[in-house]
Amino acid sequence: MDKISLVVPCYNEQESIKIYYDAMQKTFEEMNKNGLNYQPEYLFVNDGSSDDTLKILKTLNNNDPEHAHFISFSRNFGKEPAMAAGLQKASGKFVAIMDVDLQDPPELLPKMLKYITEEDYECVGCYQSSRKQGKIRAFLSGSFYKVIDKLSEVKLQQNVRDYRLMSRKYVDAVLSLKEYNRFSKGIFSWVGFKTKYIEFPGAERAAGETHWTMSQLIDYSIEGIIDFSDIPLKISTFVGIFSCFLATIGIIFVVFRALFFGGSVSGWPSLVSIILFMGGIQLFCLGIVGKYIGKIYLETKQRPQFIIEESK
Ligand code: UDP
Ligand code: MG
Repeated sequence: MDKISLVVPCYNEQESIKIYYDAMQKTFEEMNKNGLNYQPEYLFVNDGSSDDTLKILKTLNNNDPEHAHFISFSRNFGKEPAMAAGLQKASGKFVAIMDVDLQDPPELLPKMLKYITEEDYECVGCYQSSRKQGKIRAFLSGSFYKVIDKLSEVKLQQNVRDYRLMSRKYVDAVLSLKEYNRFSKGIFSWVGFKTKYIEFPGAERAAGETHWTMSQLIDYSIEGIIDFSDIPLKISTFVGIFSCFLATIGIIFVVFRALFFGGSVSGWPSLVSIILFMGGIQLFCLGIVGKYIGKIYLETKQRPQFIIEESK
């Protein structure tokens, strides 16, 4: 009997956990009825929830100690560290990452499994064909995929979810990347291997509500670009060189004018504009450089990505 590990990050998900567990149990029952032979290894990661999430996870573990495990963080570290913690603990031959709110449909799992067991894929990911979101969000997320596609060495499937099923080989490759700043979507693409992407229509949350605010999403996008590309640094260098070039032309112009037409006291507004413009460009480039230095700073501290308070 092969084990499928299910890594499930949970942050304030008291309403969803039981619904998810029941749906998943049913999926495995049906799979095994159809002649397969798999058992689940649930790895719920309690990401510092302030509601009854941990209590519910403990009850689940009491009722089903063989399959329902949990890892509980000492505080909220975010979904990326939660996924990393689950992957490190997963012992299954196959490993899936899933949201607990059933926006990652359990019934897709057998279909995904087929690609790995019957064809030679090492990983199967999912992307949403339609996504219910506001116009601004849709525009921003569309732009994000375009920018990262142009700027970075990794290619992302548009609207790709974190929901994916991976072979042991693939998971070990993902775990071999030890970086502190983890942008999973990029890491998954970076490790390579034959990956299949399947499409599914977006689903509503089973219960509870989303934890992402607009500013968190923008932040996440910037992190994604910076973690997998050094092109912003090149752009800032280019902008610097270009403004030097403009400045040189300006200086030649001013010197010639002074030599042949005499000095001038006029020109205050243009002078102020140039100073402001140059100052702006410098700050902009410094900001980009600063972003990378910040990343290096965090990496060199070698802090753990998360602290586990309790696990079972
Ligand atoms: N999540 C987490 N830590 C966080 C935020 C979210 O572990 O700080 C989990 C959450 O419990 C859920 C998954 O990540 O299982 C996706 O979160 P959510 O449904 O809020 O995001 P959305 O589906 O709206 O993108
Ligand atoms: Mg969700």
